[in-house]
Amino acid sequence: MERRRKKLGEILIAQGLITEEQLLYALQEHKRTGVTIGAILVKLGYINDDELSSVLGKQIHLDQRKRIGEVLVDQGLISENQLQLGLEEQHRNGMQLGKCLVKLGFITEVKLVDVLSAQLDIQHVMLESFNFNPQLVRLIPKEMATKYRVIPLFEQDGTITVAMADPTNLRTVDHLKFKTGKDIEPVIAAEKSILAAIEKQFSQDQIDMTSVLNSLQVSDELDIVSTEETAADKGADEEGAQVIKLVNVLINQAIQEGASDIHIEPLEQYVRLRYRIDGDLVEKSPIPLQLRAQITSRMKIMAGMDIAEKRKPQDGRFQVRFQGREIDLRVSSYPVMTRKRGVNEKIVMRILDASTKQLSLDQLGFLSKTKEVFNDLIRHPDGIVLVTGPTGSGKSSTLYAALQIIYDISKNIVTMEDPVELHLDGICQGQIMPRAGFTFAEGMRSILRQDPDVIMIGEMRDSETCEMAIQAALTGHLVFSTLHTNDSPSAFTRLLDMGVEPYLITSSVIGVLAQRLVRRICPKCREPYTPDPEIVARTGLRPGIQLFRGKGCKACNNSGYKGRLGLYELLTPDETISKMVLQHQPSDAIKAHALKRGDFDSLRRDGLRKVIEGQTTIEQVLGATQND
Ligand SMILES: [Zn+2]
Repeated sequence: MERRRKKLGEILIAQGLITEEQLLYALQEHKRTGVTIGAILVKLGYINDDELSSVLGKQIHLDQRKRIGEVLVDQGLISENQLQLGLEEQHRNGMQLGKCLVKLGFITEVKLVDVLSAQLDIQHVMLESFNFNPQLVRLIPKEMATKYRVIPLFEQDGTITVAMADPTNLRTVDHLKFKTGKDIEPVIAAEKSILAAIEKQFSQDQIDMTSVLNSLQVSDELDIVSTEETAADKGADEEGAQVIKLVNVLINQAIQEGASDIHIEPLEQYVRLRYRIDGDLVEKSPIPLQLRAQITSRMKIMAGMDIAEKRKPQDGRFQVRFQGREIDLRVSSYPVMTRKRGVNEKIVMRILDASTKQLSLDQLGFLSKTKEVFNDLIRHPDGIVLVTGPTGSGKSSTLYAALQIIYDISKNIVTMEDPVELHLDGICQGQIMPRAGFTFAEGMRSILRQDPDVIMIGEMRDSETCEMAIQAALTGHLVFSTLHTNDSPSAFTRLLDMGVEPYLITSSVIGVLAQRLVRRICPKCREPYTPDPEIVARTGLRPGIQLFRGKGCKACNNSGYKGRLGLYELLTPDETISKMVLQHQPSDAIKAHALKRGDFDSLRRDGLRKVIEGQTTIEQVLGATQND
């Protein structure tokens, strides 16, 4: 008993909850009265009940336990007969016995938790007045917390104390450990209180949302320029006005944070809101479930979609004016099945913000050597320049930058894009519209009759477009386009696979730029460090080299990264490569030759140069590029 008392006192002192003098005084009182230390401390007003129960909860661990049914009968809380009925119910629905007894009305939940708590020697926590730490609560997502009936209470020395409805469920404890990366100390609380606490804690987000709503003068920031909303807006009631405002706030916030996409996802318990920022999805305050239908309808109206149609995917678009610039939003709906509410639509809005695309080659991350060669290529009178990489690797930003560089009143530049992501002054940009019969192949035929000098083709998706593009290049036009390949040498093999004659490829392709986007280290919290020697060895960097990383700060949301950076691999074919293409040699062989040539930086090498310069981290480059 003495040992336990001492320990409790020490913990309280360590946590700064009481002072040494207070403990000594309490010990005296304890000796005098025989009342427990904890109770004395509470009585003297040194700590409150919650603090005490929290600390107690941490000390106590799962012990050998008697079967709960027996205990309840022993204590005279239920009869043998009721136990039998409870066991039968358990057999039928597979729930825990305790729950079945509550369901049958033989015992109250609070009483059950009390007994369990005593039986398991686990602290019983009353959550009603507990002062939750919102950050800690969010370590476990709402869905998971609800599913497992758990809510984190506090953290100390790498251990999180979690209130659980069933602290004996070791599998849940393991899941929580895995999810949080911390040790878990369970305490018990009534299931109802946990669910209520989860609801309350997570609904504070919604309160936040409302306060954002009220504090923002949306009309000054955001103007809906083109939508087909007029009819539906007429007679909008107060609630309707709130929804309109809320949607405007969402869009406004996303644009302000530099997001490329807004995701609105109907989940079982709430509507998840996420923004894609610098390539990663970031969760935002959820949208109240009761507003889901209205928000979805509002967005569909703005995008000119059929609001009555909820079972088929749709797409649409609209435009907003934000801080004096016009921004296009492409909206797509996708019906998803929820367990409780049937089919709901997930909405994704792509934000096509011209100001984020209008970057120079330097800003995109071109090293001066690559920039020099690329600048040369895009000034050729004819030929094809290809930009390759997966979706979202920034290919169109590069092409837009190139078009802006070469724009000249004496040239006719025509584009064919799907979609037009940025409006360039002075350049005629075509928008692909397959439903109207405007496909890449169809467009290509027309462009050639438009007396072009430079043609930009958003993507070479089919062999027909490829062949026409090559013909155009061979007849005195400069053509820019993109392909989906992993590296620059593969562009040649991809064209061969598409059935293009090898001699047409070698006589038209003058350069291939492969690219990736990685995250830039946050300039506000960048710090040097010495990386793991094993990683350094793997990349061939000098042993003991100092590299950089972001420590994490307010400016970067503690991620250590801010903004993005391109990695580039520019390959200009030489005679050997032409020969290799004519012989249908694999891309590996072409790459090996280029690397030997000396003037070719692979994506990995380009990335490592940027790692050494402190622009990005070694992890980003290793993640985005392959070994050479
Ligand atoms: Zn930072």
